[in-house]
Amino acid sequence: MTESSFDATHPPSRELLNECVHCGFCLPTCPTYQLWGEEMDSPRGRIYLMDLAERGEIELEGAFTEHIDACLGCMACVTSCPSGVQYDRLLEATRPQIERNVPRPRSDRWFRNGIFALFPYRRRLRAAAVAGALYQKTGLAKLAERVLPPRLRAAQSLMPEVRLSSAFASLPRRVRPDGPVRRRVALLSGCVQDVFFHEVNTATQRVLAAEGCEVLTPRDQGCCGALGLHAGRETHARERAKQTIATFEKLPVDDIVVNVAGCGSSMKEYGHLLADDPEWTERAQAFSAKVRDVSEVLAELEPQAERHPVDATVAYHDACHLGHAQGIREQPRSVLRTIPGLRLVDLPEAELCCGSAGIYNMVQPEPAEELGKRKADNVRSVNPDLLVTANPGCLLQMRRYLDDVPMMHPVQLLDASIRGTTPGRTPAPR
Ligand code: SF4
Ligand code: SF4
Repeated sequence: MTESSFDATHPPSRELLNECVHCGFCLPTCPTYQLWGEEMDSPRGRIYLMDLAERGEIELEGAFTEHIDACLGCMACVTSCPSGVQYDRLLEATRPQIERNVPRPRSDRWFRNGIFALFPYRRRLRAAAVAGALYQKTGLAKLAERVLPPRLRAAQSLMPEVRLSSAFASLPRRVRPDGPVRRRVALLSGCVQDVFFHEVNTATQRVLAAEGCEVLTPRDQGCCGALGLHAGRETHARERAKQTIATFEKLPVDDIVVNVAGCGSSMKEYGHLLADDPEWTERAQAFSAKVRDVSEVLAELEPQAERHPVDATVAYHDACHLGHAQGIREQPRSVLRTIPGLRLVDLPEAELCCGSAGIYNMVQPEPAEELGKRKADNVRSVNPDLLVTANPGCLLQMRRYLDDVPMMHPVQLLDASIRGTTPGRTPAPR
């Protein structure tokens, strides 16, 4: 028997690979197959490549890595597969194999290392926010747009308008409701979310408190490891997961609330990520069992705060890591429907990724741009007054191609309704 091309550390399992019956039902929902019509850039084709590599019939370097790198990890294929193939588990097992065993070209390695040296660290992000504010004010951003190579141009065009007052603001550690406590929750404030979308966190605290939750937001929390997990940086993801568990498990709360789709889906996976670490397995499972998207918590609570009318047509974009990865579609919609006057509309091709996908729009800027433009066209086709979505990556990506439609996190819209204010806008990228 030929030796597998994967190393012995958690390779994609033969049992999972065998579950694919090659029916092709997943193909129409796969964004990369939609773009290129290439079998090896479909879920079925990628599973076939994993199968060949597991049998040792192809090496990891070259075409294999290119087709796996081109996958967005959007998990639309998991939703659409009638056989229940766990492509998410297969991809999670495959990406670390590439990161460990395939040498990347120097410029690619540096670019990826740069992303991971910055994004998971709040202090570094704040320092970058200062540099970003100067960069935007001096007009350098406009100049750079013309001279930077595609990846750096994509990264800089995603940069939101930097508000230093928000980037350096800290959240109150404890927010109590005015009336009786219905639920005690802890909030993940996130890294990119807290520095560049701080107002989403403050809105989350206010809304939860208005609905009777006591909200604890520990200061000593850091990155949850989501970016690393989705990019195959398993060691980074495991370390971050352990730190996050250690921070939150000591809090006397019913739920650990997340308002970022990508972070929530990773935190629900900690039990699996740390399944082979005896010291952490049970702790990780207990932690993951408490993780809830903010819309899940709000949908379960009978509304108690008065809502003021919002006379607007609102398009809802399903973030892939909320809809496909966590199966959360109805809860945010039902929460938004509690706002009087609001007309909620779905998007055509709602299952299709917007091209954000963690670090994808920085490392694969061309397909990300095609998907971003396609999503923008779909949004415009329903002529909304507002667009809402529960992931900062999606907001940044779509703002780039859709600067004529105000957009925000759903919890900000609910917050505006409860407070009786005009729904605001997310910072626009330069
Ligand atoms: S992943 Fe599922 S839908 Fe796609 S080819 Fe395999 S069995 Fe069919
Ligand atoms: S995760 Fe998304 S991009 Fe990757 S194979 Fe599945 S549907 Fe296609």
